[in-house]
Amino acid sequence: MKKRPLGQNFLNDQNIAREIVRLAGITSDDAVVEIGPGHGVLTQYLLETANPVTALEIDAKLCAELKNSFSDSENFRLIEADATKFDYSSLGAKFKVVSNLPYYAATHIVKRLIDYRSRITDMTVMLQKEVVDRFVAQPGQKEYGSLSVFIQFHCEAKRLLEIPKIAFSPPPKIDSSLIQLTPRAQPAVQVESENTFFKIVHAAFFHKRKMLKNNLKAWENRFEQKNGSTHLAGIDLSRRGETLSLADFAQLSNFIQAQHD
Ligand code: SAM
Repeated sequence: MKKRPLGQNFLNDQNIAREIVRLAGITSDDAVVEIGPGHGVLTQYLLETANPVTALEIDAKLCAELKNSFSDSENFRLIEADATKFDYSSLGAKFKVVSNLPYYAATHIVKRLIDYRSRITDMTVMLQKEVVDRFVAQPGQKEYGSLSVFIQFHCEAKRLLEIPKIAFSPPPKIDSSLIQLTPRAQPAVQVESENTFFKIVHAAFFHKRKMLKNNLKAWENRFEQKNGSTHLAGIDLSRRGETLSLADFAQLSNFIQAQHD
C-alpha cells in the first residue's frame, strides 16, 4: 500500500461521522476547531450546528477541495496550517475541538492542545485505539505510564466509541477510538511544582519493570529505611511506578519540593 505520511485515512462511513458529531455535543453557541478535515466528512455535520467551524488542514490540495465544497457555508473558515505548530491562541477565547487526528502526529497534537487548555471547552478526538488505551489506563494496568498521568492530570478522559479499521479508506492497520478530553479547571492533584511532579513521573516509568528505588536514584539522599524496606514520602520503593496513583506521585513530588524550598 502507498505510504501515507500525512496520516490520510479518510472516514467513509456517514453514520459514524454523524455519531461522532452527535457525541461531541455541539450547540449553536459553540465555536469548533476541526483538525485535519480531509474531504470534509465531519465538517459537513459540524457546519449544521457550530459557528464558526475553523478547519486546519495541512494539505494544499485538500484545502482547495474544501474551499469548493463549503463555499456556501458562511460559518466555515479554512486555515492551511500545520496543527503541530499552530498558534491556537489566535482562534478566540473559547472553542471545542473535534477531529479525526492523523495518527503520526496524534499524541503530539493532543499535547499541544493541552498547552492551550484554558481556551478549550473539550476535545472530541479520534485516534489509535492503543493510544486511547494509554490515555485512560489506571494504575496496575499494563498501558499505564507517564502519558496516562499527563493526560489525567490535565483532563477528564471519557472513551466514547470504537471505530473499526474498515470504516476508513484506505483502511489503516489498527482500530481507532473516539475519546473526549475535558480540560480540568484545576489539575487532578495539587502539586507545588509541576516540573518536579513530571520529572518524578518520567523517572518512575523510565525502566518500567524496575522498582522505584532504582528508577528514583536521583533522590536517593531523601530515601528512608523503615523495618528493612526503603521509603520515600511514606511510599514503599519496592513498588513499581505502574502501581502509583496520581495522588501517590503528588505525595512524592510535594515531599521532594518541600525539601527544596
Ligand atoms: N477528517 C477526515 C476524515 O475523518 O475522513 C480526515 C482525517 S485523516 C485521518 C487526517 C487529516 O489530517 C488529513 O486530511 C491530513 O491531510 C490532515 N493532516 C495531517 N497532518 C496534519 C497536520 N500536521 N496539520 C493539519 N492537518 C494535518
